[in-house]
Amino acid sequence: MKLLICDTLIMLNLILFGPPGAGKGTQSEKLIAKYNLSHISTGDLLRAERAAGTELGNLANDYISKGELVPDSVVIGMVKNFMLNHGDAAGFIFDGFPRTIPQAEALDTMLHDFSSSISVVLGLEVEEDELVKRLLLRGQSSGRVDDQDENTIRNRFQEYQNKTLPLAGFYSNQNKYVGVQGIGEIDLIFNSLCQHIDAVLQ
Ligand code: ADP
Repeated sequence: MKLLICDTLIMLNLILFGPPGAGKGTQSEKLIAKYNLSHISTGDLLRAERAAGTELGNLANDYISKGELVPDSVVIGMVKNFMLNHGDAAGFIFDGFPRTIPQAEALDTMLHDFSSSISVVLGLEVEEDELVKRLLLRGQSSGRVDDQDENTIRNRFQEYQNKTLPLAGFYSNQNKYVGVQGIGEIDLIFNSLCQHIDAVLQ
């Protein structure tokens, strides 16, 4: 959805925020279809690099398999490339990015170069025990190694608490953060996300 206001193109840029297993990927798919956005999932991009056996993919795998965050410089470079290759997008949905304050600052700069900015940050809120259950279940079907071991899962939560959760404050300070209950029917959660997005579009 691209709006033309006073000769300036307004992009709809969403961040889907939340801990591992909160449902970011599931909701992203539905949001992309409804709002015609370009999807950036850093987890998917890193796994694609790993599957292709690139140097970046091999480097990232060392971190992913331990449940640690991949270094900022690697992830930021990857997102920058993606955005440059999708310059005609009506807007982006960021899924799993940013995950640290330096990533959020870099994203602000990148969007500024597109004469744009983050429209809203939607935080899916789910408690930890439910997340562990979901991830272990996902691990049985997805084949993702980082979803199969409870220690790795707990490590990812630790990383989330220490490095990612501060972003809720970062975006609250910009009046962009909205928390959404992430437990319940997928379609009800989706409706709630859409209400917040539509409020921004008005
Ligand atoms: P989940 O949200 O279930 O953890 P992702 O697919 O988003 O799944 O991420 C999987 C792994 O990829 C993370 O645990 C981390 O190692 C790496 N990763 C993904 N996105 C980032 C990012 N923005 N910064 C650093 N590491 C990342």
